[in-house]
Amino acid sequence: MKAKREVLATYSYEESTIERGYNNRSLYISVGGNYDTGAQDPLVRRADGARQTVIGEKAVTDFMKEKFVGGKGFDLYHLWKAVQPDTRWNAPENDIVISPGPLAGITQYPGAGKSLVCCVSAVTNLPIDSNVGGHFGPFLKFAGFDILELQGKSEEEIIIFIDGNAHTISIETASDGSSGQSLAANGQSLATDSHILCEQLYEMYAENQEDKQNISIISSGRAAENALIGMLNFSFWDKRRGCVRLKQAGRGGIGTVFRHKRIKAVVIRYRGVHGGLNHPANKSLLNAAGVRMHREIAQNDHLQNNMRKIGTASIIDVMDRYDLLPVHNYQYGSHPGTAKISSKVFIEKYVTQNVPDGCWHGCSLSCAKAVDNFELRTGPYKGNRVCVDGPEYENAAALGSNVGCFDPHWVLEGNFYCDTYGLDTISMGTMTAFAMECFERGFIGLDDTQGLELRWGNGEAVLELMHQMAEGRGFGMIVGKGVRQMKRIFAERFHLTPQQIKDMEDFGMENKGLEYSEYMMKESLAQQAGYALCNKGPQHDEAWLIFMDMVNNQIPTMEDKAEALHWFPMFRTWFSLLGLCKLPWIDIVPPDNKYQTEPHKIPGHIQNYIDIYEGVLGERHTEASIVRQSERVYTFQRIFILRMGSGQRKHDAPPARSIGPITAVEYLSREERYDKQLKEQIHIDPAGKSTEEKIEILMKHRYEQYWRLVDAAYARRGWTPNGIPKLEKLKEIGMDLPELIKVVRPYLMEEGYWPDETND
Ligand code: SF4
Repeated sequence: MKAKREVLATYSYEESTIERGYNNRSLYISVGGNYDTGAQDPLVRRADGARQTVIGEKAVTDFMKEKFVGGKGFDLYHLWKAVQPDTRWNAPENDIVISPGPLAGITQYPGAGKSLVCCVSAVTNLPIDSNVGGHFGPFLKFAGFDILELQGKSEEEIIIFIDGNAHTISIETASDGSSGQSLAANGQSLATDSHILCEQLYEMYAENQEDKQNISIISSGRAAENALIGMLNFSFWDKRRGCVRLKQAGRGGIGTVFRHKRIKAVVIRYRGVHGGLNHPANKSLLNAAGVRMHREIAQNDHLQNNMRKIGTASIIDVMDRYDLLPVHNYQYGSHPGTAKISSKVFIEKYVTQNVPDGCWHGCSLSCAKAVDNFELRTGPYKGNRVCVDGPEYENAAALGSNVGCFDPHWVLEGNFYCDTYGLDTISMGTMTAFAMECFERGFIGLDDTQGLELRWGNGEAVLELMHQMAEGRGFGMIVGKGVRQMKRIFAERFHLTPQQIKDMEDFGMENKGLEYSEYMMKESLAQQAGYALCNKGPQHDEAWLIFMDMVNNQIPTMEDKAEALHWFPMFRTWFSLLGLCKLPWIDIVPPDNKYQTEPHKIPGHIQNYIDIYEGVLGERHTEASIVRQSERVYTFQRIFILRMGSGQRKHDAPPARSIGPITAVEYLSREERYDKQLKEQIHIDPAGKSTEEKIEILMKHRYEQYWRLVDAAYARRGWTPNGIPKLEKLKEIGMDLPELIKVVRPYLMEEGYWPDETND
């Protein structure tokens, strides 16, 4: 039985044909409130007339395609227009923008089903971007739109339904009209937690079992209503397992914004996926690149990262071996307990094998692993057997090693609850690790945590924090505000000494308000800057330089590192413009890659991307022109964060622990290595010096190195010493747009970088 739902607004649109990756139009929805949208056919009023719901279309122009390409570029462009410099995350004009990119939806090449999501972050109040799999983005494009914008705030819980075959959109409430309860197909209340909600919505919207594979849903969870680190789940129907799978747009609290707008879910249906829907310009070029890549994966994956067998969890042991696994709030890089959460353990005990786990059709790398039939020990679903989407490396590092928990059960249970409650696993781990260190060092006690023993390794306490966030109670409500706010709240409420307050600044692992992702950057100068220079805050998808810097020694000089801090963030940005997954670029390499002059760039795969771009869009690119496309959007985002109150040198200052050892135990854990560095790099004899003296000397040297590298990276990017993009750079890349110049001009004038001849 299907539940009867009240329809608040409907909209019909013309069918469109995608040409070379674009529909050339976007879908705009205000769920409550009328904004200056620029929509061509707006204003479908709600039946009750109490507030306006607006559904309309906007053109995707040649200007947008030239300057912003798609995906994250389109998202940021729309977000810029939607918000003001003082817009905060919970303002109704905050705009959740979702775009799949012009290559998204192809099935010939692995990793082409990504959606990019942007909004003003609930964690940082800056533009955040997050890259997510699942079928929603490609379905949105095949339904007729390159972009979906969600603005406004609804008065009640709503579901947005896009029928991509009937070409209709409806905004619905599932209320039965008397109790205000949302009803599922079986008459029960509609859940908020994603794993239940999605099952209910697949029953409600699919016409039959077979039709479920044509549906994808965006949802969040209960904790996203109370914590600032809410994330979004993008679903796909796993036909072989017969269940809903969830992929996450994790970082920056986009789920919190989604639930604040009172959107329960966005449901899309599209029937008829096939490889030609993007109407590619040169199908044989596209096919040839796909065949090459699939063959390479089939022949080499089992000899390299084994992604098809265990997914990203394969690197847990590797990171531990190279001292890069965050342990106990980034104090250490390895731990004897890692063997208990190694990939071998997950393969043998949990992960379902021999299932092609691609998060979009045609991804033969198939890293989206799952654990079936996992029995939960805590929380509202205690005793239930569920499907866990994981484990992934970040889950094991954030909910395992970084909080000192080397028990695979708690890693997986935390993984499940983060997903269904709508919590960002990475922030959850880093925030909890911070709170645990405060507890272990006696900065806070049981009275402050309301009885929670936040000791390293207490997996049950980590789960309890999640349940508290879901239920809006207890110490979890403080932890759920993130590291930056915890530092302030602990200092204000818990009677800390000035030294303790300073120490929290040193080991609170956030930058620009976002928690660090899960790589131990302390021994890699390039990664320290890679993290702290990120526009959105320290997330590895922008600059993951740690292996080439620390392990392979491919960027030994300051100039090499500065060049890497230009090339890699730009090239990585390109994936987010096109709707591509980075893993097929970097987590498998051609066997002859080591003989290339720049093996760290994987030149063979860059050639593939040049081919598939031409195959779909009909334009031939070079490596340099790819980087230039990204540089436009990257620079735009830097100016965007400047407009919103960040984006200067002072905002790129990292916490001390990301630079080096700040406590005696950290120094002593690598004493031999650090003593050697004192001798060889600083020419100081460590003999006879106390550990504290040695830390002081080492950290002074490392900070000098860090700021030297920042200067070199800024210069390479065409920025001033204060981190402001120069006017000549904007002209060089074709981004000397009046609204951007208006933002940078006062900063450039103050620093003396505004050219005399343009000074009026
Ligand atoms: S490599 Fe993994 S994350 Fe990337 S598209 Fe394939 S299955 Fe999805």
